[in-house]
Amino acid sequence: MNIHEYQAKAVLREFGVPTPRGIAAFSVEEAVKAANELASAVTVVKAQIHAGGRGKAGGVKVVKTIEDVEKEAKRLLGSILVTHQTGPRGKEVHRLYIEEGSAIDKEFYLSALVDRGTGRVSFVVSTEGGMDIEHVAAETPEKIVSFSIDPATGVMPHHGRLVARTLGLKGDLAKQADVLIGKLHEAFLAKDMSMLEINPLVVTKDGKLICLDAKVSFDSNALYRHPDIVALRDLTEEDEKEIEASKYDLNYIALDGTIGCMVNGAGLAMATMDIIKLYGESPANFLDVGGGASKDKVTAAFKIITADPNVKGILINIFGGIMRCDVIAEGVIAAVKEVGLPVPLVVRLEGTNVELGKKIIAESGLNVVSADDLDDAAQKIVKAVKGAA
Ligand code: GDP
Ligand code: MN
Repeated sequence: MNIHEYQAKAVLREFGVPTPRGIAAFSVEEAVKAANELASAVTVVKAQIHAGGRGKAGGVKVVKTIEDVEKEAKRLLGSILVTHQTGPRGKEVHRLYIEEGSAIDKEFYLSALVDRGTGRVSFVVSTEGGMDIEHVAAETPEKIVSFSIDPATGVMPHHGRLVARTLGLKGDLAKQADVLIGKLHEAFLAKDMSMLEINPLVVTKDGKLICLDAKVSFDSNALYRHPDIVALRDLTEEDEKEIEASKYDLNYIALDGTIGCMVNGAGLAMATMDIIKLYGESPANFLDVGGGASKDKVTAAFKIITADPNVKGILINIFGGIMRCDVIAEGVIAAVKEVGLPVPLVVRLEGTNVELGKKIIAESGLNVVSADDLDDAAQKIVKAVKGAA
């Protein structure tokens, strides 16, 4: 689960992490009121969306007067911000963060994440702040330093020294870096974060190390023990289809392609997406209906897929192990009866009760193409979609 920058900063502040003063605003009036309350010489108006790259897209404005705060708030609220992280459709701005401006001396990059390789929390640090870390990694990998924290000892003084050395910080700033790493690590563990990115971490002209931006993701499997974090969820930032799917406990991820997929098992779902790609089309979603899906679940999944206007064809690929093919067949037919079948449908069933499943579909009178194996199924649906285009 992701949260907004202003929420992430509030969470970090609970752990004593230094951030600029700021107030969230949901309207132009609130933005002006916030700026008056902050009463700083320089104010930053920041669009709050669940995506980075706002600065380059005009979503972060450093201004000097209340009039300009008002002007930028008017411009941003309700506008669609397109950044390199939002995709071409962009995201609508509903919230702003009004922040006290900082006089920046240096900008750095710092992040922490769960590193599956080492099974530990790893930190990534670089002098190249404000840039995309992916670019830095590709072009100047020597400017990135990473280290992992042994859970038995936690953050040690040598970690602080490594960060200070990497960022060229001396004296009091080195001390601040050491303290900061400890606090960020504490927050990361206490809140079950999966990713924490401070880009940029800055040194101000008056010698303070502060977090100017903050992006945090949380481990969804641990949300049950963080009601305070769950309360920060902003559903307007999430895909409607994914919200609907989560109500039925379906593992669904919306994608940009044209072929809707209904598959059981994450591995088979990935293989299905790959083979669709291999034959020249793209999947519209990842969907694992799970091992023990009920008829209702299958019906819900089918409705979510057909509601996506990008879907030009559907491929159902089920290997019935625990899941029975006849249950899938009944779910599909129930769904088609309810929502119709506006696009070609290819079904490949295999495993438990496969004959019964095929019979149910064959006798339904529906215009369904049946396929024998994964290869056959992918070729048939790609051909059907290309033929329709
Ligand atoms: P992002 O583009 O979505 O990552 O948004 P950021 O919060 O990182 O802001 C983008 C850029 O705006 C930063 O890299 C800074 O260069 C600049 N910026 C943000 N806040 C301030 C500030 O208080 N003072 C100054 N001078 N620049 C700022
Ligand atoms: Mn940033």
